[in-house]
Amino acid sequence: MHKSIPINLPSTILPIKAFKDNYIWVIHRNEFAVIVDPGESSQVIEFMGNSGLKPVAILITHKHYDHIDGVKTILNHYPAIEIYGPVKCSLPFPYKPVKEGDIVTIKDVEIKYMVIEIPGHTLDHVAYLDNDVLFCGDTLFGCGCGRLFEGTAEEMYSSLQKIKALNKKTKIYCGHEYTLNNIRFAMTQEVDNLDLTSRYRKVLKQEVTIPTLLSEELKTNPFMKASSSQNLKEIRERKDAF
Ligand SMILES: [Zn+2]
Repeated sequence: MHKSIPINLPSTILPIKAFKDNYIWVIHRNEFAVIVDPGESSQVIEFMGNSGLKPVAILITHKHYDHIDGVKTILNHYPAIEIYGPVKCSLPFPYKPVKEGDIVTIKDVEIKYMVIEIPGHTLDHVAYLDNDVLFCGDTLFGCGCGRLFEGTAEEMYSSLQKIKALNKKTKIYCGHEYTLNNIRFAMTQEVDNLDLTSRYRKVLKQEVTIPTLLSEELKTNPFMKASSSQNLKEIRERKDAF
Protein backbone atom coordinates (compact mmCIF):
# COMPACT_ATOMS: atom_id res chain seq x y z
CA MET A 1 0.00 0.00 0.00
CA HIS A 2 1.33 3.43 -0.89
CA LYS A 3 1.74 5.98 1.85
CA SER A 4 0.44 9.41 0.93
CA ILE A 5 3.21 11.75 -0.11
CA PRO A 6 3.05 15.35 1.04
CA ILE A 7 3.65 17.79 -1.79
CA ASN A 8 5.85 20.85 -2.18
CA LEU A 9 8.31 19.91 0.54
CA PRO A 10 12.00 20.62 0.15
CA SER A 11 14.00 17.69 -1.15
CA THR A 12 14.93 14.97 1.33
CA ILE A 13 17.85 12.55 1.18
CA LEU A 14 17.62 9.02 2.56
CA PRO A 15 20.07 6.11 2.67
CA ILE A 16 19.30 2.60 1.45
CA LYS A 17 21.82 0.05 2.64
CA ALA A 18 23.47 -2.32 0.19
CA PHE A 19 26.03 -5.11 0.47
CA LYS A 20 27.95 -5.03 3.74
CA ASP A 21 28.53 -1.31 4.14
CA ASN A 22 27.43 0.53 0.96
CA TYR A 23 24.96 3.39 0.87
CA ILE A 24 22.62 3.97 -2.06
CA TRP A 25 21.28 7.54 -1.68
CA VAL A 26 17.73 8.52 -2.62
CA ILE A 27 16.92 12.20 -3.08
CA HIS A 28 13.22 12.91 -3.33
CA ARG A 29 10.94 15.84 -3.71
CA ASN A 30 7.18 15.37 -3.88
CA GLU A 31 6.67 12.02 -5.66
CA PHE A 32 9.91 12.05 -7.65
CA ALA A 33 13.21 10.46 -6.70
CA VAL A 34 16.84 10.42 -7.82
CA ILE A 35 19.02 7.42 -6.99
CA VAL A 36 22.78 7.69 -6.43
CA ASP A 37 25.08 4.69 -7.05
CA PRO A 38 22.64 1.74 -6.94
CA GLY A 39 24.99 -1.22 -6.51
CA GLU A 40 21.95 -3.41 -5.83
CA SER A 41 18.35 -3.16 -7.05
CA SER A 42 15.91 -5.23 -4.98
CA GLN A 43 15.86 -2.99 -1.89
CA VAL A 44 15.63 0.12 -4.12
CA ILE A 45 12.64 -1.23 -6.06
CA GLU A 46 10.99 -2.34 -2.81
CA PHE A 47 11.57 1.11 -1.29
CA MET A 48 10.06 2.85 -4.33
CA GLY A 49 7.06 0.49 -4.25
CA ASN A 50 6.43 1.00 -0.52
CA SER A 51 6.88 4.76 -0.61
CA GLY A 52 5.09 5.39 -3.90
CA LEU A 53 8.06 7.39 -5.14
CA LYS A 54 8.81 7.50 -8.85
CA PRO A 55 12.51 7.37 -9.74
CA VAL A 56 13.35 9.79 -12.55
CA ALA A 57 17.16 9.71 -12.59
CA ILE A 58 20.24 7.77 -11.51
CA LEU A 59 23.59 9.43 -10.78
CA ILE A 60 26.74 7.29 -10.99
CA THR A 61 29.99 8.45 -9.37
CA HIS A 62 32.28 5.71 -10.72
CA LYS A 63 32.27 2.34 -12.41
CA HIS A 64 32.83 -0.09 -9.51
CA TYR A 65 30.28 -2.92 -9.34
CA ASP A 66 29.07 -1.94 -5.86
CA HIS A 67 27.93 1.40 -7.32
CA ILE A 68 26.39 0.29 -10.63
CA ASP A 69 25.23 -3.35 -10.52
CA GLY A 70 21.62 -2.47 -9.63
CA VAL A 71 21.16 -0.13 -12.61
CA LYS A 72 19.99 -2.62 -15.26
CA THR A 73 17.22 -4.11 -13.10
CA ILE A 74 16.05 -0.65 -11.97
CA LEU A 75 16.03 0.44 -15.62
CA ASN A 76 13.87 -2.58 -16.52
CA HIS A 77 11.33 -1.51 -13.89
CA TYR A 78 11.49 2.18 -14.78
CA PRO A 79 12.45 2.42 -18.48
CA ALA A 80 12.03 6.23 -18.59
CA ILE A 81 14.71 6.81 -15.96
CA GLU A 82 17.66 9.00 -17.05
CA ILE A 83 21.15 7.86 -16.12
CA TYR A 84 24.19 10.11 -15.69
CA GLY A 85 27.76 8.87 -15.27
CA PRO A 86 31.39 9.84 -15.87
CA VAL A 87 32.42 10.42 -19.49
CA LYS A 88 35.82 8.86 -18.74
CA CYS A 89 34.56 5.27 -18.55
CA SER A 90 32.14 3.15 -20.51
CA LEU A 91 29.36 1.96 -18.27
CA PRO A 92 27.55 -1.24 -19.37
CA PHE A 93 24.19 0.50 -19.97
CA PRO A 94 22.99 3.57 -21.87
CA TYR A 95 23.79 6.80 -20.00
CA LYS A 96 24.43 10.50 -20.43
CA PRO A 97 28.16 11.13 -19.97
CA VAL A 98 29.13 14.02 -17.69
CA LYS A 99 32.39 15.89 -17.12
CA GLU A 100 33.88 18.67 -15.00
CA GLY A 101 31.64 21.73 -14.87
CA ASP A 102 28.58 20.11 -16.44
CA ILE A 103 25.24 20.94 -14.88
CA VAL A 104 22.79 18.07 -14.53
CA THR A 105 19.28 19.49 -14.27
CA ILE A 106 16.60 17.20 -12.92
CA LYS A 107 13.39 19.19 -13.24
CA ASP A 108 11.09 16.84 -11.32
CA VAL A 109 13.06 17.28 -8.11
CA GLU A 110 14.03 20.89 -8.98
CA ILE A 111 17.72 20.22 -8.44
CA LYS A 112 20.76 21.20 -10.48
CA TYR A 113 23.90 19.22 -9.82
CA MET A 114 27.30 20.52 -10.78
CA VAL A 115 29.74 17.81 -11.84
CA ILE A 116 33.21 17.85 -10.29
CA GLU A 117 35.91 15.45 -11.51
CA ILE A 118 37.70 13.89 -8.55
CA PRO A 119 40.07 11.15 -9.79
CA GLY A 120 42.21 9.10 -7.43
CA HIS A 121 40.13 6.10 -6.31
CA THR A 122 39.40 5.52 -10.01
CA LEU A 123 40.37 7.72 -12.96
CA ASP A 124 36.76 8.29 -14.03
CA HIS A 125 35.43 9.36 -10.61
CA VAL A 126 33.02 12.33 -10.41
CA ALA A 127 31.06 14.03 -7.63
CA TYR A 128 27.68 15.78 -7.85
CA LEU A 129 27.25 19.06 -5.99
CA ASP A 130 23.95 20.78 -5.24
CA ASN A 131 24.49 23.87 -3.08
CA ASP A 132 25.65 22.39 0.21
CA VAL A 133 25.15 18.71 -0.67
CA LEU A 134 27.93 16.62 -2.21
CA PHE A 135 27.68 13.04 -3.46
CA CYS A 136 31.30 11.98 -3.65
CA GLY A 137 31.19 8.17 -4.02
CA ASP A 138 34.43 6.57 -2.83
CA THR A 139 36.69 9.64 -2.84
CA LEU A 140 36.09 11.24 0.55
CA PHE A 141 34.75 9.12 3.41
CA GLY A 142 33.84 9.97 6.97
CA CYS A 143 37.34 10.58 8.41
CA GLY A 144 39.01 8.82 5.47
CA CYS A 145 39.46 8.64 1.70
CA GLY A 146 39.14 5.95 -0.95
CA ARG A 147 41.91 3.54 -1.82
CA LEU A 148 44.06 4.46 -4.80
CA PHE A 149 42.95 1.74 -7.22
CA GLU A 150 43.72 3.57 -10.47
CA GLY A 151 44.82 7.09 -9.66
CA THR A 152 47.91 8.46 -7.98
CA ALA A 153 48.34 10.16 -4.61
CA GLU A 154 48.79 13.43 -6.55
CA GLU A 155 45.39 12.99 -8.19
CA MET A 156 43.68 12.12 -4.90
CA TYR A 157 45.39 15.06 -3.18
CA SER A 158 44.21 17.52 -5.82
CA SER A 159 40.69 16.02 -5.78
CA LEU A 160 40.53 16.52 -2.00
CA GLN A 161 41.76 20.12 -2.47
CA LYS A 162 38.75 20.71 -4.73
CA ILE A 163 36.42 19.43 -2.01
CA LYS A 164 38.24 21.46 0.65
CA ALA A 165 37.46 24.62 -1.34
CA LEU A 166 33.68 24.07 -1.06
CA ASN A 167 31.45 25.72 1.52
CA LYS A 168 32.40 24.43 5.00
CA LYS A 169 28.74 23.58 5.64
CA THR A 170 28.68 21.13 2.72
CA LYS A 171 27.15 17.81 3.69
CA ILE A 172 29.23 14.88 2.49
CA TYR A 173 27.26 11.87 1.21
CA CYS A 174 29.77 9.11 0.47
CA GLY A 175 29.39 5.52 -0.70
CA HIS A 176 30.37 3.50 2.39
CA GLU A 177 29.93 3.38 6.15
CA TYR A 178 33.60 3.32 7.15
CA THR A 179 33.62 6.18 9.64
CA LEU A 180 34.26 4.34 12.91
CA ASN A 181 37.17 2.32 11.59
CA ASN A 182 38.56 5.43 9.88
CA ILE A 183 38.43 7.35 13.16
CA ARG A 184 40.25 4.52 14.94
CA PHE A 185 43.02 4.83 12.37
CA ALA A 186 43.01 8.65 12.52
CA MET A 187 43.48 8.50 16.31
CA THR A 188 46.74 6.60 15.77
CA GLN A 189 47.96 9.43 13.51
CA GLU A 190 46.95 12.34 15.74
CA VAL A 191 46.76 11.30 19.37
CA ASP A 192 46.03 14.73 20.83
CA ASN A 193 43.25 15.90 18.47
CA LEU A 194 40.31 16.65 20.77
CA ASP A 195 37.91 17.08 17.82
CA LEU A 196 38.78 13.55 16.81
CA THR A 197 38.14 12.07 20.27
CA SER A 198 34.79 13.82 20.52
CA ARG A 199 33.91 12.64 17.02
CA TYR A 200 34.82 9.09 18.09
CA ARG A 201 32.47 9.30 21.08
CA LYS A 202 29.65 10.67 18.91
CA VAL A 203 30.06 8.05 16.19
CA LEU A 204 30.01 5.16 18.70
CA LYS A 205 26.34 5.97 19.30
CA GLN A 206 25.39 6.35 15.61
CA GLU A 207 24.29 3.58 13.30
CA VAL A 208 24.41 5.85 10.22
CA THR A 209 27.25 8.40 10.43
CA ILE A 210 26.68 9.89 6.97
CA PRO A 211 26.28 12.66 5.93
CA THR A 212 29.21 14.28 7.62
CA LEU A 213 30.02 17.97 7.44
CA LEU A 214 32.97 19.29 5.46
CA SER A 215 33.92 21.42 8.50
CA GLU A 216 34.18 18.22 10.57
CA GLU A 217 36.32 16.51 7.94
CA LEU A 218 38.67 19.49 7.85
CA LYS A 219 39.24 19.16 11.59
CA THR A 220 39.53 15.38 11.88
CA ASN A 221 40.18 13.62 8.55
CA PRO A 222 43.91 12.81 8.22
CA PHE A 223 43.68 12.83 4.42
CA MET A 224 42.07 16.29 4.40
CA LYS A 225 44.85 17.44 6.73
CA ALA A 226 47.63 16.00 4.54
CA SER A 227 50.22 18.70 3.86
CA SER A 228 51.21 17.42 0.40
CA SER A 229 50.54 14.60 -2.03
CA GLN A 230 53.62 12.80 -0.66
CA ASN A 231 52.24 13.14 2.87
CA LEU A 232 48.85 11.80 1.67
CA LYS A 233 50.63 8.86 0.05
CA GLU A 234 52.36 8.00 3.33
CA ILE A 235 49.11 8.23 5.32
CA ARG A 236 47.35 6.11 2.67
CA GLU A 237 50.04 3.42 2.93
CA ARG A 238 49.75 3.33 6.72
CA LYS A 239 45.94 3.11 6.43
CA ASP A 240 46.15 0.29 3.87
CA ALA A 241 48.22 -1.69 6.41
CA PHE A 242 46.02 -0.74 9.41
ZN1 LIG B 1 34.76 2.22 -5.56
